[in-house]
Amino acid sequence: MDCLFCKIIAGEIPGDIVYEDDKVLAFNDINPVAPYHILVVPKKHYESILDVNAEDMDIIAHIHKVINIIANEKGFAQNGFRIINNCGADGGQEVKHIHFHVLAGKKLPMYEK
Ligand code: 5GP
Ligand code: ZN
Repeated sequence: MDCLFCKIIAGEIPGDIVYEDDKVLAFNDINPVAPYHILVVPKKHYESILDVNAEDMDIIAHIHKVINIIANEKGFAQNGFRIINNCGADGGQEVKHIHFHVLAGKKLPMYEK
């Protein structure tokens, strides 16, 4: 499958990895918009949240547990952070493998309304 994040997961493309377990990979965004800009992805390919069926939905809770671990390990839990999941064209999703952006390390601007 021609998927950038599947290639990073498979080790075919280098990723600056910050966390890995059997189900999830987290790596630094190549074009960070905050001092911390980490992408957290399931190792199983889903295009977006719309493709995660009810039986697989545990992975979404697991990703949030991983974000909690990363926030504490990196030391930005206390000051706070933002989790973003862009879905589809209007959501601005460019990479078609579900991913959660974790932004931290500065006071983040309010998103566009
Ligand atoms: P989206 O717009 O799909 O929500 O976010 C895709 C993100 O992937 C962007 O923030 C972009 O900077 C990041 N990205 C694109 N290509 C690469 C890459 O090759 N490596 C890494 N680490 N991040 C990438
Ligand atoms: Zn993929």
